[in-house]
Amino acid sequence: MGIKRIAVLTSGGDAPGMNAAVRSVVRTGLSSGMEVLGVHRGYNGLLNCDTVEMNLRSVSDIIHTGGTVLYTARSPEFNSAEGVQLAADNCRKMGIEGLIVIGGDGSFRGARDLTQAGIPCVGVPGTIDNDIACSEYTIGYDTAMNTAMEMVDRLRDTTESHNRCSVVEVMGRRCGDIALNTGIAVGAMAILVPEQPYDLERDIYKRMQYTQSIGKRHFIIVVAEGADCPVEELAKEIQRNTGIESRATILGHVQRGGSPTLRDRVVATQMGYHAVKLLEEGKSNRVVAMQNSQIVDFDITQALQMPRDFDADLYQIALKVSI
Ligand code: ADP
Repeated sequence: MGIKRIAVLTSGGDAPGMNAAVRSVVRTGLSSGMEVLGVHRGYNGLLNCDTVEMNLRSVSDIIHTGGTVLYTARSPEFNSAEGVQLAADNCRKMGIEGLIVIGGDGSFRGARDLTQAGIPCVGVPGTIDNDIACSEYTIGYDTAMNTAMEMVDRLRDTTESHNRCSVVEVMGRRCGDIALNTGIAVGAMAILVPEQPYDLERDIYKRMQYTQSIGKRHFIIVVAEGADCPVEELAKEIQRNTGIESRATILGHVQRGGSPTLRDRVVATQMGYHAVKLLEEGKSNRVVAMQNSQIVDFDITQALQMPRDFDADLYQIALKVSI
């Protein structure tokens, strides 16, 4: 006897493309003859039984929208043995036989705990940070990078007019992928990421002075939020060390919003589909991932222990061409 009722929730930080993933889960589930419940506000919705029965039309007109129609939350109440037990009991009460969790690492820890408490869970990586070790891609990452790129392009106009230096902080938590790729795309002279050691004297002040001596008049420096280098202070130090007027900009939450790019919509659709198929096949405690552009899956517990790869070759290319 196949699985009759599944549920889907979005948890942790929101990411553009989460709606496309929810849509895919709902429509794949319904087409497989399952009932699908949408759970509101992440794990909070399981604690409060705040759910809604989804049909084909519940997910109309959302593939192109940012945010998440299911809302998201961080739920400290869930993150305890009692919280997980209550959520599992409520799932049983509501007849939920499988749960799809769209979120990041923290949300997957919750999914692992809930699976251990008897509710089969599958995780789908939805986070702009691209910080899920087992997957080369996370839903929202492409949109966030494109947003960051557009914003820095705008800064470049004013930086150029005034012969200034713009120091821009982008998101990514402990992961430098957004910074590295955005930095390359905007022609940043330096990119600071948590994965690579840096020396401000060598990598920024001296490089700026050198490029200035050969005619460069304006500068963009991209800093990952996890690089441990507050941009306001860095801008002051650059100005003090080089004499070049410098301004700091923190792009912040603008990177989380907006209509998802084509790539995010397509990958979200593939991953949502794959997640439902896993539950249908009776698999659980899995996380959907992308490897060599293919959609695959891993055991959540193992996935959470994998070390993250950083594209050091791409970083070297950035260094070479940013002079
Ligand atoms: P993300 O999923 O984006 O990494 P968080 O780390 O904030 O975001 O996690 C989202 C939610 O997942 C938390 O609010 C909590 O309810 C749950 N969670 C996080 N860590 C754990 C954990 N170690 N065990 C159980 N649940 C967790």
